[in-house]
Amino acid sequence: MSEDIYSKKREKLIELLREEGIKDERVLSAMNKVRRECFVDETEKENAYLNYPLSIGYSQTISQPYTVAFMTELLEVNPGDKVLEIGTGSGYQAAILKELGADVYSIERIYELYLKAKENLNKLNYNVTLKVGDGTLGWEEYSPFNKIIVTAGSPKIPDTLFNQLAIGGIMVIPVGDTYSQDMYKVRKSIDRNGKIIKSIETYKEFVFVPLIGKEGWDYDLR
Ligand code: SAH
Repeated sequence: MSEDIYSKKREKLIELLREEGIKDERVLSAMNKVRRECFVDETEKENAYLNYPLSIGYSQTISQPYTVAFMTELLEVNPGDKVLEIGTGSGYQAAILKELGADVYSIERIYELYLKAKENLNKLNYNVTLKVGDGTLGWEEYSPFNKIIVTAGSPKIPDTLFNQLAIGGIMVIPVGDTYSQDMYKVRKSIDRNGKIIKSIETYKEFVFVPLIGKEGWDYDLR
């Protein structure tokens, strides 16, 4: 890989994230390791460490660094956690999860983005299990997951994803209409009678591209 000429910019961004309220040192350190410039288009490399979302083509965006940090903090990732990401996009969020020691599975619905993410992650030696498909249906074969992170905006919490979450697991998902969403931190637990409990904390206010699929937005209805 080329010389890391972006390390100063990256450190500045980490300072900004700290000022904006990100506290988890493990998250900040992971964000200080992943080379965001390797996940954006050639023409956007200079902007890779600004706190902005950037276009990755096909009408999709890589979320702004603050949003990535915020969601990752909510996810409470521990080394060895099996994590499912919905919306691979550029692969950047998946790389952050790898730096936190997770075993990462990620689904993308757009084939070209899947290919690009695969290339980006391979180049930087991040070993992530990827597939193309409708992520609202999860990845049964590898379930249950300790953590699930959805990086596109959903009208609701997809039941199938909640079912694929392990007991004691956490799902972070933006839920709202197609213009803005609240961030949901969903915990799955079990009570004394063996009943599954879903508890939700919400945080304002984010704007994501839509989660399109069987248990997300219906493309034809938008
Ligand atoms: N996490 C990405 C950013 C994702 S943008 C990154 O770090 O770069 C949201 C992505 O979700 C887009 O690439 C979009 O194509 C994808 N997406 C939307 N609906 C989906 C679905 N049902 N299953 C899988 N991916 C989906």
